[in-house]
Amino acid sequence: MKKKRPEGSLAVFPGSFDPITNGHLDIVDRGLAVFDRVRMAILMNPEKQPLFSVEERVAIIREAYRGNPRVEVDTFSGLLVDYASRVGASVIIRGLRAISDFEYEFQMALMNRRLNPQIETVFMMPAESYSYVSSRLVKEVFQLGGRVSDLVPPVVERRLSEKYGTPIRAGRVRGKRAR
Ligand code: ADP
Repeated sequence: MKKKRPEGSLAVFPGSFDPITNGHLDIVDRGLAVFDRVRMAILMNPEKQPLFSVEERVAIIREAYRGNPRVEVDTFSGLLVDYASRVGASVIIRGLRAISDFEYEFQMALMNRRLNPQIETVFMMPAESYSYVSSRLVKEVFQLGGRVSDLVPPVVERRLSEKYGTPIRAGRVRGKRAR
């Protein structure tokens, strides 16, 4: 027997989310203003060497959205449009930070449309203050001892410090304790 799907519109927000940043959360919030549910779908890509395992990334997102049933988290491999139609989503959300994102995103959206014209890609722009934030930069800055607390949810800052073995301290400089 087919499993009954929960009611309401569902949008899939795919990405690596290694780890999530406030930029991703901003896009999820915007998605929730338009769709009933947003499902963050972590692409399992054997070619990438992530900092956080897929399981860790799922756990981080679960913790960040604990108590909010409208945000779901899942993993997928293979074609995104196949995944979206399998879970009953007719919309893919992508975030657009800057013109530099545009070319790649545009190509991918058109390819996905060709693969499955029933699924629409919707682009959302984050608040200006997050337009320069990326998972890669957050990891680099943290590793070098910079403060990322305004750029990521608390669970990510904690997980980063566990991963890199550097305690979170006010005034920390390059991973050392400030006096
Ligand atoms: P991917 O490897 O698919 O680009 P990311 O986790 O880097 O995975 O990004 C997932 C989605 O989130 C992409 O659509 C990306 O453009 C968007 N995104 C990432 N960072 C931000 C941000 N700071 N503001 C808005 N959108 C963002």
